[in-house]
Amino acid sequence: MSYGLTDEQRLIAETARDFVDKEVIPRARESDRAERFDADLARQLGEMGYLGAPVAEEYGGRGLDYVTYGLIVEEVGRGDSAQRTVVSVQTSLVCGSIERWGNEEQKQRWLPKLCSGESFGCFGLTEPDTGSDAASVRTRAEKTDNGWRINGQKMWISLGNVADVALIFAQTDPSKGHRGMACFLVPTDTEGFSSQEVHGKLGLKASDTASLGLDGVEVGDDALMGEIGDGFKIAMSALDLGRYSVAAGCVGICQGCVDASVAYSTERKQFGVPIASFQLVQAMIADMVVRRDAARALVRRAGELKDAGEPSTVETSVAKLYATESSVECANLAIQVHGGSGYVDDHPVERYLRDARVTTLYEGTSQIQKLIIARDATGINAMTPPKPE
Ligand SMILES: Cc1cc2nc3c(=O)[nH]c(=O)nc-3n(C[C@H](O)[C@H](O)[C@H](O)COP(=O)(O)OP(=O)(O)OC[C@H]3O[C@@H](n4cnc5c(N)ncnc54)[C@H](O)[C@@H]3O)c2cc1C
Repeated sequence: MSYGLTDEQRLIAETARDFVDKEVIPRARESDRAERFDADLARQLGEMGYLGAPVAEEYGGRGLDYVTYGLIVEEVGRGDSAQRTVVSVQTSLVCGSIERWGNEEQKQRWLPKLCSGESFGCFGLTEPDTGSDAASVRTRAEKTDNGWRINGQKMWISLGNVADVALIFAQTDPSKGHRGMACFLVPTDTEGFSSQEVHGKLGLKASDTASLGLDGVEVGDDALMGEIGDGFKIAMSALDLGRYSVAAGCVGICQGCVDASVAYSTERKQFGVPIASFQLVQAMIADMVVRRDAARALVRRAGELKDAGEPSTVETSVAKLYATESSVECANLAIQVHGGSGYVDDHPVERYLRDARVTTLYEGTSQIQKLIIARDATGINAMTPPKPE
């Protein structure tokens, strides 16, 4: 779907496609098998300008529009969702938040290193007891003479073991609810900060996932991003960008499923003919193509709204819901097209399914996206049910 793209956007997408074919795809299976986060490859993404692509050039980014960023993320997602997670977290959740909410000193200190891939950052919102209900974080930040003391735990944090800086969302005044939330830029070498690897994941095995401990972590006033009470707004604005990126990555998974299924079904013969000759196999491929195209169009719409500076929260949720669910569906169909061969990692399709599965969970589950979409349609907020009398 290259209609409506400028020559520059096409060129950037082609360059990303070449890079992914040459550098990302050949390493994806081994990293997945070894459950190894490939930091060198992640840094290469930075060298290519793919970490922080929409960040302004003065802070080390490329100043690209969101449609172009989506094209890059799609390509990386086609190659390896573990590396796509690096792009999404670093660019959308971390750099995007610092660029929008950070002061000049914070931007100068962190953005150039994050955009180049010299440093990694992580986004610490989720906790063992706080997932979809993000406003109820229990991590506590208490004022000290010189700054803040933070205590708490974070769970499921991508890049948490390799990050140099963590965005930590904490409650400063429990009586204020989400209006008491604040966001802190915490250097991960601060005393009292610890991380542990999360093992046993279904997919995204080559992505770094951590639980974080904050045990009396002391930071200065200069670590506070935005104002006290901005934490919830920062988290929601970050997720708006993050969901766009996840959706774009899932278009890449759908594309990868189509590519693999067409290649396999035109080669593999049964009953004396390529299996692509069978109408039931063609039907599966057609379903994948339709889902890929529809997901891509929804991602494009969300990107164009972002580029125009117009509200895009609902459209981003629509794109995220549809693209993530479609990536699961396409990967499932792609395995079916491959028969038994789709069940082992000689082909990428079983990894696509395992990696796609998490995308309907993180950055807001599919249920949460539906609640956002239907709240807009009906004017009724069904996110928080009435409490029992
Ligand atoms: C591999 C991985 C990487 C991650 N990376 C990060 C990261 O970098 N940073 C970060 O902060 N978090 C991260 N997460 C956490 C992720 O965002 C959460 O898992 C997600 O928000 C869901 O929260 P939960 O797991 O606590 O599920 P819960 O909120 O407990 O939800 C469980 C079920 O209940 C449903 N549910 C909950 N509330 C409602 C409601 N109001 N109405 C209807 N249904 C509801 C959900 O849809 C879901 O089906 C990651 C998770 C994974 C698995």
